[in-house]
Amino acid sequence: SPVIWWIRRDLRLADNPALTAAVNTGAPVIPVYILDAQDEALGAAPKFRLGLGLEHFSGVLEKAGSRLILRRGGALEVLRELISETGAGAVHWSRLYDPQAIARDTEVKQQLKAQGAAARSHGGRLLFEPWSVETKTGGMYKVFTPFWKSVRVRDVDSLRPAPSEIPAPDTWPASEEISDWKMGAAMRRGADVVARYCRVGEAAAQDRLDEFLEDKVSAYKECRDFPGEDATSGLSENLAWGEISPHRLWHLGRAAMEQGGSGAETFLKEVVWREFAYHLVYHSPHILTESWRQEWRDFPWSHEDTPQFQAWQRGQTGYGFVDAAMRELYVTGKMHNRARMIVASFLTKHLMIHWKCGMDWFADTLVDWDPAANAMGWQWVAGSGPDAAPFFRVFNPSGQLDKFDPSGVYTRRWIAEGQGQPPRSALDFFDAAPRSWNLAPDMPRANPVISLQAGRDRALAAYHESRENG
Ligand code: FAD
Repeated sequence: SPVIWWIRRDLRLADNPALTAAVNTGAPVIPVYILDAQDEALGAAPKFRLGLGLEHFSGVLEKAGSRLILRRGGALEVLRELISETGAGAVHWSRLYDPQAIARDTEVKQQLKAQGAAARSHGGRLLFEPWSVETKTGGMYKVFTPFWKSVRVRDVDSLRPAPSEIPAPDTWPASEEISDWKMGAAMRRGADVVARYCRVGEAAAQDRLDEFLEDKVSAYKECRDFPGEDATSGLSENLAWGEISPHRLWHLGRAAMEQGGSGAETFLKEVVWREFAYHLVYHSPHILTESWRQEWRDFPWSHEDTPQFQAWQRGQTGYGFVDAAMRELYVTGKMHNRARMIVASFLTKHLMIHWKCGMDWFADTLVDWDPAANAMGWQWVAGSGPDAAPFFRVFNPSGQLDKFDPSGVYTRRWIAEGQGQPPRSALDFFDAAPRSWNLAPDMPRANPVISLQAGRDRALAAYHESRENG
């Protein structure tokens, strides 16, 4: 009887233990993607990007003599239907680590087993399963550096080539059409703009990794903080959807490291920050929904949808670094890491708006949205996370701009106002932004929404007060 490969965040053929296990049974393999309630609840940009990934991956599977079966509904119900339609005897999938996915998958596993089908979950999304890394006393790591020290010398699964063939069943079960799923429906206006900036699919991701390791990794350590430079791998969107494995980054990165240069080691360390984020989510899932540290839960952050919050979302704060970054996000669905720190600090400190409001905006607009990295990143900046920057370290967006964008290349790329002939990227923002925002490239630059000094003083006063009362 055939086996079902339940595809989730692993849109790739290489280094995919779930696929390898399915193929190794020797039985025909039925690849299926199930759009369930958890996917329906995705933010606009992640859902759109998932749609692009699925469309692409469907073509990849067809070239490999297989197909992608698309079904909508509850995962368990759909799998049961497919089992009864095809007579499949087993389901294989790769693990996810957020609490909702774990709850769903646990239920699916129990129920399928109860009805006599084999249900097997596999690794592949992470280098190190979160439960396999523990401190000497048997607990979770709360700080990155010891986590890094404990894993950097560990063995990592070797790379697996894409299977040479994915055996097909004699008859295929029916599939829905991706166009009927309307994955871009919630994109306010700019879906086609965002799509131009996406890198979709396994082949493109592998090419980019090769190019990055060949040309850029040696300067990664020195240049990775400069948002105007093409100095980082840009692979987060592919990692988010499983179009490349972290194993590939790890093994090829290590090979680059052995050839000398500290750039590759710094790069591997960043890849392990992603692992650390999943370690935190697995062991303390409340990091996704509330301040990780209890003493931050009453901090007087605002939750309201104020004009200042809108100015931040729309790249209209009057501060070049913040506005360039927020527009980059809106146009490309991505944002440079330093810029993410600057806009998060500006929101949670100068504007005193809750980190969750910022996290939710990112979850709606990032094509590389990753629940673990996003929550950890926001709580790191806000000061409420386990291994966090102290709250009183308030980034000054003007000083940071002088330091990390001294030639102004980043702000010119994203802010059209005031430029005689703005580049296309800066104009793209006005095509991507919803009409209701009423923005035009010939309008004057926004005035600062707050003075940096006043915002900083207010934030620090609130911090000191909360510590005295706490
Ligand atoms: P590179 O510098 O090439 O790094 C390689 C890979 O390492 C990345 O693709 C990523 O998977 C991982 N990585 C690098 N830095 C981090 C980090 N600080 N934390 C976790 N993993 C890291 N990353 C996401 O993938 N999705 C998110 O939703 C996300 N939200 C963030 C929110 C905030 C407030 C902050 C401060 C950071 C967030 N990050 C997120 C982490 C980081 O900004 C991005 O991973 C990085 O900018 C992606 O660019 P790159 O692929 O060129 O990274």
